[in-house]
Formats: sequence, C-alpha cells, structure tokens
Amino acid sequence: MILNKAAVRLEKAQMLADLLQKHSTALAVAMSRETNRCISDFLNDSLPKAVQTIRYFSYAKLVLESEESSLYGVKRRDPVGRVAVITPWNDPPVAFAWKVIPALLGDNTVLWKPSEFLTESSKLLAELTQKAGFDKFSLFGTSRADGEELIKTELLDMVAFTGSAATAKQILHTLVPRRLVRTHIETGGRGICVVSSNAKNVVEAARHLARCCFYNQGQICSKPFRIFVAKKIQEVFLEAFTEEALLWSPNDDPLKKSTKVGGMITDKRADNFCDALSLFLTKNKNNVILSGGVRRCFGTGVSPNVVLHLKGCEFAPDEEIFAPLAVISSFDDITKPLKYAQASRYALENGIYSQDISEIELFLKYTPSGMCSINTWGTSPVGFPFGGNRESGFGLEKCVETLPWYTSTKYIHAV
Ligand code: NAD
Repeated sequence: MILNKAAVRLEKAQMLADLLQKHSTALAVAMSRETNRCISDFLNDSLPKAVQTIRYFSYAKLVLESEESSLYGVKRRDPVGRVAVITPWNDPPVAFAWKVIPALLGDNTVLWKPSEFLTESSKLLAELTQKAGFDKFSLFGTSRADGEELIKTELLDMVAFTGSAATAKQILHTLVPRRLVRTHIETGGRGICVVSSNAKNVVEAARHLARCCFYNQGQICSKPFRIFVAKKIQEVFLEAFTEEALLWSPNDDPLKKSTKVGGMITDKRADNFCDALSLFLTKNKNNVILSGGVRRCFGTGVSPNVVLHLKGCEFAPDEEIFAPLAVISSFDDITKPLKYAQASRYALENGIYSQDISEIELFLKYTPSGMCSINTWGTSPVGFPFGGNRESGFGLEKCVETLPWYTSTKYIHAV
C-alpha cells in the first residue's frame, strides 16, 4: 500500500523532471532575465542538476519506504502536513529540487514562496509542477510580504527555508512565539580553504578554486572565499589563481548562450559592493588587490577581485560575501587557518589541498564545517549530503537523509 502511493508520486516526479527538460529553454530565459545570471549556467548546470536531483529523490524515496516497511514493521511515515517552502534567487531550479521535491514526495501540502526576483520563472515552474499531477502544491506568492504572511499562517506544520542567516533569524523570531513547528534551515557560508605545501598540483588547485569562487559572480553559498596558502607555494598559487580569476569578468549579454559569466543580481548590489571594497582598500593598505582595480563590468557585472591580506583588518570579517571576491593570505603553521575556521560563525563547506595524511586529519578534527572537501571543492554528486553547521543552518539537502525531514514518524506498539 505504502509502496503503491510512493510509486504514484515517483511517477509524478519523473513527469516533472521530463517537463523541466522539455521547457528548459523557457525556464532558463526567464531565470536569466530575472537574475542577470548567464543563460548557459541554467542550461548546462542548474537545470540538469535539478532534473537529476528530482530523479534521484524519487527513487531514493521509493527504496527508503520499501526497505522501512519490510525491516521495521513497527514504524510508518506519514506526511508532516502543511509545509511552507521558502527559497532564494541565486540558483532557482536547484533550490526548488532540493526542497520542494522532497516535501512533495513526503505527500505534504506544499506552499511555495520563491524569491521576489523570480516572478515569471516561478509561475512557470509552479504550472509544470501542477501539470505533473502534484495537486497538493501551490505557489503562495513571491514578494517578501508574501513570505512574512506565510510565516504567520496559523496552520503550518513545517517551514523549510533556504536563504541568508539574517532572514532565517527573522523568520524564527516571528514563528517561534506563535507556534513550535519543525524547521529545516540552510543559510549562507564563508568557505575556508587551506592549500598546503604538500598539495599535489598547486596550479591545478589554484585554478579550480578560482573557478569555484568566481562562478556566478561569487553568488554561491558554498564558494571558497577565504583561502590560506602555505608561504612556500604562495607565489605559484597567486599567479595561477589571479590568471584564472581574470577569465571570469562579465563581458557580454547574459542571455547569449556563449556568455560564460553574467552579472550580479542588481545594479545597486553591484555598486554597493564596489564602493565598500574600494573604500576598504583605500583605508587598509595591508590588503593588496592583485587583480587590478575594483570595477563595474558589462550590465550588472563586477570584476573578479583577488585580495591578498597581509595583516591587520580584513574586509567584512565573518560576513558572508555574496560577490566576486576572494581573500587570500599565507601561513607558516597550519594551526593559523584552522584557528580562523574554528572562530568562524559560518560552517558550510571548508577544504584542504594536501597529500599529507596528518595535515588532513588535523583539518578534519578542527574544521567546524558540515562539508569537508579534500583535494577538491564543490564537486560532490547528487546523493552526497549538502549542509552546514553553526549559522550555516541545519538540515541536509540532496541526499537520502533529506527525506525523513519531510515525514512524521510513528512507532507502533501493538499487543
Ligand atoms: P534572502 O534571505 O534575502 O531571501 C530568501 C527567501 O526568503 C526569499 O524568498 C525572500 O523573499 C524570503 N524572505 C525574506 N524575508 C522574509 C521574511 N521576513 N519572512 C519570510 N520570508 C522572507 O536570501 P536571497 O538573497 O534570496 O539568497 C541569497 C542567500 O541564500 C545567501 O545568504 C546564500 O548563502 C543563501 N543560500 C544558501 C544555500 C544553501 O543551501 N545553504 C543555497 C543557496 C543560497
């Protein structure tokens, strides 16, 4: 019986994945217009990832339920009930697949509140979801006011949120005095990466980290932002990193398929970031900009900025930087970056490049991050848990462990 219901939802999810593929151009055009992110990111990365995640979740759910019903005859999982899902603008198809899909597969009534920037693409995504047969799904609205209203809705059983830590706090502030409901929260990050003198290929590490940092103008929660490089290899690393960074300057229309990097979400945010960084660099000479000046590029774009931090103040310490900036410093002793990581209020993805097992062990012991990348960054496949600790949130995404968040467990004792 449970298996049959799950199988029906699997079919709907598979149909939705097919519909997303079929309408990928329309979705990508709308999302690119709304966010200024380049269309090629949506067509080649975000939408395929979303489709893959939907397919993954639907099979994972089926397997999970069939295993549970045979292994644990005393346990059943029912829907949580009315679930509010609130998502951000920076990777719309992925946020949708990571949160809305597991909520629907849990057979919940889902009230979706996407970002205020995504008015058209969200309507299209909602239409496709309903067309696939998910009749307990609705688009609640897109404005911030809609979000506030949704949180105040009396009959919510769960809130699943992805966005900034500041908004998460506002939501909890409103929600908790009214009602204790389950919350699944994923927020920002400030990725820290250590590159040891024992790294296998320093140039390759530098290039990969620069690509991850400046992809989508640095508007990615899990990007490597604060990079610590062993003094011995600093020169080689900085040269390769800066060279790669400069390839990520926005220089053409985000709607052209050949464009590699679009702009920031709005002109105002791009201006604010440039003004704040320029002012900081003028006042703090112990921070050296290696990639030329801080400047505006095509459309809402901003130049990729590589700052070498020598000593003293650093730019916006402990803030999430959702813009094209990497801050790099050197170390003699690996405990320096580890102490820095320990003191951070964010703990989403941190990493190390090293071939030395004792260094890797030390890193794993002291990094507080939910995701720990060794000799790589940002490459974990669908099925590998995505999630953080501390102010980066709680709850896991895109893995089997996500699914139980969206069901209520009942343990049955019969005599
Ligand atoms: P945001 O916090 O401004 O908004 C997120 C969502 O919350 C939007 O839909 C917004 O309309 C809504 N919202 C805002 N105020 C609200 C309120 N008072 N009540 C209810 N809803 C409200 O974030 P953003 O600018 O859209 O997205 C960028 C942020 O998302 C970054 O901090 C980034 O790190 C984070 N993010 C995290 C992950 C992750 O998985 N950890 C993934 C993507 C983005």
